[in-house]
Amino acid sequence: MSELQTAAEKTPFKSDLLKGKKGLVVGVANKRSIAWAVARALSNHGAQLAFTYQGDRLKESVAELAATLPGKSPLYPCDVTQDEEIKKVFAGLGEEFGSLQFLVHAVAFAKKEDLDGRTVDTSRDGFQLALNVSSYSLIALTKAAEPLLEKEGGSVAALTYLGSEKVIPNYNVMGVAKAALESAVRYLAYDLGKKRIRVNGVSAGPVNTLAARGISGFTSMLEGHRHRAPLGRNVEVEEVANTAFFLLSPLSSGITGEVIYCDAGYRIMGA
Ligand code: NAP
Repeated sequence: MSELQTAAEKTPFKSDLLKGKKGLVVGVANKRSIAWAVARALSNHGAQLAFTYQGDRLKESVAELAATLPGKSPLYPCDVTQDEEIKKVFAGLGEEFGSLQFLVHAVAFAKKEDLDGRTVDTSRDGFQLALNVSSYSLIALTKAAEPLLEKEGGSVAALTYLGSEKVIPNYNVMGVAKAALESAVRYLAYDLGKKRIRVNGVSAGPVNTLAARGISGFTSMLEGHRHRAPLGRNVEVEEVANTAFFLLSPLSSGITGEVIYCDAGYRIMGA
C-alpha cells in the first residue's frame, strides 16, 4: 500500500453528507499539508474538490495528490498575492463547477528571519509580506468566491493558530497576521451572512508541516504542547481536518464568525 493510501485510511469517517458539493482547497504543498488532510476528509464525505498550487514547483506534487481522489479535481496556479491569478481561478471554477459550496484557506508565509528572535525587529517589508499572504488573502479569495458561494449558500474555513491571541515566542509577525486573519473571519461572516455564506476559523495545535518547520524551535513547541495539553498529546492532522469538515458541512449550519480550537485542549491551560 502506498503512503498516500495509508494517509487516506487514517481518516475513518465517511458519509454522503457532501455528495454533490464542490469546494476549492488553497494551501496544499505536499502530503503533510493540513490542507491535504482537509481535502481527504472532505472527499471522504463525498465532496468534489479543486486545488490551487503556488507556481510550477508545486504543480506536480499537488497533481499527484489530487489524482488519488475520486472524480476529477481541477487544478489552478495561484499565488495569493496576485489578483489576476485569483481572478483566473474563479473564472475557471465558474466554468468547471458552476457554483461552489466551500472554500478552504490554509495559506501562510513569513520571512524566515521574522520567525525568530524579537517581534520588535520585524521590518515593514516582512510585516507587509506576512499579512498580505496570510491575512489579506482570505479577504481576496472570499470576495472572488462570493458569486459562486452565494448561488446555493456556502462555507469558508481558514486555518489559524493560538499565536493570534497569546505570545508564542518565535511565532512573532505570524501571530499578528493570524490576529488579522481571525478578525477578518468575523467581519467577513458579518458581510456575507445574509447571502447564506458562513466564515469560520479552525485553530490547530502544532502539526509537523513544511510551514511549521520554518518557525524557529518548532520541535520544542511540539514537545511543550504535548506536555501541557489536557489530552497529554499533540493533535493529529486528521482531527484538524475533521474540525474543518464540520465547519464546512451543514452540521455547523448555525455557526459563523467563530474560531474553533482543535489543539488537544492546550488553549484552556493557565499554567
Ligand atoms: P504547508 O503545508 O507548508 O502549507 C502552507 C501553504 O501556504 C503551502 O501550500 C504554501 O505554498 C502556501 N503559500 C505560501 N505562500 C503562498 C502564496 N503567496 N500563494 C499561495 N500559496 C502560498 O503548512 P501547513 O502547516 O499545512 O499550513 C497551512 C495553514 O495551517 C497555514 O495557514 C498555517 O498557518 C496553519 N496552521 C498550521 C499549524 C501547524 O502547526 N502546522 C498550526 C496552526 C495553523 P509554498 O510551499 O509554495 O510556500
